[in-house]
Amino acid sequence: MSADTPTLDTVRAWLWAARRIAVLTGAGVSAESGVPTFRDAQTGLWARFRPEELATEAAFRRDPGRVWAWYAERRARLQGVQPNAGHHALAAFEQRHPGRMTLITQNVDGLHQGAGSRGVLCLHGDLFENRWLDVPRDCCRIDDACVGHPPYCDRCGNLVRPGVVWFGEPLPYAALDAAQRAARACEVMLVVGTSGQVQPAGGLARLARQAGARVVVVNPEPTELDAVAHAILAGPAARLVPELLDF
Ligand code: NAD
Repeated sequence: MSADTPTLDTVRAWLWAARRIAVLTGAGVSAESGVPTFRDAQTGLWARFRPEELATEAAFRRDPGRVWAWYAERRARLQGVQPNAGHHALAAFEQRHPGRMTLITQNVDGLHQGAGSRGVLCLHGDLFENRWLDVPRDCCRIDDACVGHPPYCDRCGNLVRPGVVWFGEPLPYAALDAAQRAARACEVMLVVGTSGQVQPAGGLARLARQAGARVVVVNPEPTELDAVAHAILAGPAARLVPELLDF
């Protein structure tokens, strides 16, 4: 049952009273930093590509050079991109209230960390990390990988791949487990800038609600999670998050 009646001041009062807050962010929190969202029909990162052509293990095995080049371009585009007021407000709140907030993100852009947030639960990995495609053997040392597109182990030929979660892959167990515990334990969950279409991340809001938390959606557009929300604050994250977390 959705309700968009509670005002920003009401939500702020909920947050002020909550001992445990969980925040789930998606691509929208980085939109005002200039990072395209996943589903934006006009400019979205994926509008020009079919995900299964690039963001799957099968695609990488089929054409590692092409997939590596695409991720290299994504990394290059993020160079110089700065966290916005939404990222900064979350990091500053965490510093003022240690242990009170758990920040869970679907983003791979590193902007929460860049703003100073610590212990971010990255459900979909990190674009700037690398790991081995196949289980590493003794000869596989990521820092000594041979330069290539992608880099590789010169002993066994194992390939280096980006440290993101591809379609069809399981989420990192530790991060998902911690996120689910935070969802069950929180009194308020802020859902910021996510369409809620990607699972199991979207399910965290339902989990929080079932466990008794108030769920608040911050998004300029309607989302799949509006039906789960006690309050919907329609607007951009870089304006609303600082207003909500200014205590
Ligand atoms: P999504 O693209 O499906 O949804 C983005 C949401 O952000 C939309 O609901 C949109 O209305 C909202 N939005 C747009 N501008 C906003 C703003 N200024 N303030 C608040 N909300 C705004 O993204 P998703 O739900 O995160 O799922 C997409 C998947 O793509 C995730 O798995 C994520 O890993 C990946 N992805 C990550 C990045 C990134 O790291 N920045 C970028 C694109 C995609």
